Amino acid sequence: MTEGTMGLCDLNTIREILGRHGFRFSKSLGQNFLTAQWVPERIAAECGADAGSGVLEVGPGMGCLTVELSRKAAQVVSIEIDRALFPVLEETLSGTGNTEVVQGDVLKTDLAALCREKFGGRPVYACANLPYYITTPAISALLDAGVFEAVTVMVQREVAQRICAAAGTSDYSAFSIYVQYHAAAEILFDVPAECFVPRPKVDSAVLRLVPRDKPAVEVTDERLFFAIVRAAFNQRRKVLSNAAVPAFGGRLDKAQVAALIADCGLDAQIRGERLTLADFANLANRAAAMLG
Ligand code: SAM
Repeated sequence: MTEGTMGLCDLNTIREILGRHGFRFSKSLGQNFLTAQWVPERIAAECGADAGSGVLEVGPGMGCLTVELSRKAAQVVSIEIDRALFPVLEETLSGTGNTEVVQGDVLKTDLAALCREKFGGRPVYACANLPYYITTPAISALLDAGVFEAVTVMVQREVAQRICAAAGTSDYSAFSIYVQYHAAAEILFDVPAECFVPRPKVDSAVLRLVPRDKPAVEVTDERLFFAIVRAAFNQRRKVLSNAAVPAFGGRLDKAQVAALIADCGLDAQIRGERLTLADFANLANRAAAMLG
């Protein structure tokens, strides 16, 4: 740790710099800045970036994580939506030399194109202390971009647990399956609510997603696979033979869906929340074969 970066997580320094720039936190932009220096240090140390790699950061805020990442990586590009933070970042990142901030909304940015443009052929890692209000779409956008070696993000602890949840647990959801299909997911460490200003109501956790070379399970019709998953969790209290019917858009009736479930060796009364990714894949592949 150096004096400069310690300052960026120090509450008095945060207040002094932001006050001088007339900056006010925006709740609607999910602006909760880190006040514990060990957190950006640990994210930078564990995200996988090294001297040969680039990092795409989402939401630099005042730049505390940006500075730490700039020490590990060859180059850091940060996307920030709030123009009011640009004069702040110009000041706080002035000593780095390998950082660049671009104005934009991560959800409206072509991340693959941005990485090609900014990083050339370097391996690129994604890092963020994500704003709460876009956690799920931002994670989807980072995975769908298909260009990151790893995606290390801080999210609400509950969301991190949901993403990593196993079949049959109450946290298991359609989003767990979506993420686990595309990536190996792991919680690195927890971050209590008192590590932020303003202090959020919930604790956070840092999650690392390592995109897979190929999906976790082999699926012949991805749209159908995810339609079945969504249908199963849309009505998670219903047995799968009822809940899954809408996924087939009228092409299979309830009796046919029940027969399909039996063919998979699953209990007639089973709920979708008990199915592993492999079970859902088996079901979707059999259905796809049946539908032609
Ligand atoms: N990285 C800083 C830190 O850890 O202290 C700030 C993190 S704060 C939780 C989230 C940041 O994301 C804010 O700077 C906010 O302005 C920015 N942000 C919010 N919505 C965004 C969006 N759609 N695209 C890009 N940045 C966004």
